[in-house]
Amino acid sequence: MTEAVQGAGRIVFQAHELRDRVLALGREISDAYGPEDRLLVLGVLKGSFVFMADLVRAIDVPLQVDFLIASSYGDEQVSSGDPKLLYDPGSSLQGRAVLLVEDIVDSGSTLRTLLSTLRERRPASLEVCVLLHKSAAGVEPPPRWVGFDAPNEFLVGYGLDHAEDFRQLPYIASL
Ligand code: 5GP
Ligand code: MG
Repeated sequence: MTEAVQGAGRIVFQAHELRDRVLALGREISDAYGPEDRLLVLGVLKGSFVFMADLVRAIDVPLQVDFLIASSYGDEQVSSGDPKLLYDPGSSLQGRAVLLVEDIVDSGSTLRTLLSTLRERRPASLEVCVLLHKSAAGVEPPPRWVGFDAPNEFLVGYGLDHAEDFRQLPYIASL
């Protein structure tokens, strides 16, 4: 990992801490759903892909997996209305228990926008599992499952990137 570490900075969450927390999240999620829920775990690409892969393997109720790609919203002006999905999940959400999986919530604007779009598709329930939580101002309701409270620093690794680098790090570091 020496090459990849170059420039990745201080380690904030070690691989074993991530593993333990993801296993615990998987157990909690398994307790919250049953086979009748037809759970659909919906990952927000690209940042959630590593977390998602570990999380679904820690869940022991039947589930299906899909992904979406959201365009970057950044600003508040587009948080209502109809945000663009660059990849829209093929799965119908109607009547299903949907668990949205995100890598990190900062201001909450990305999540807020996505949730309003997904709610229009009439899932039976819509919950959020986010690995890292910075401040999440204004996400209502707050994510049901949160991996870690994160420092207000720019984090990379375990799926998170800086300009597409560092996603493969098995730990999370601060740039
Ligand atoms: P929000 O809309 O909540 O302010 O920002 C959420 C999005 O910003 C995340 O989905 C992620 O793409 C990006 N982001 C926020 N903080 C970080 C960070 O520390 N590291 C990385 N790699 N992305 C971040
Ligand atoms: Mg993201």
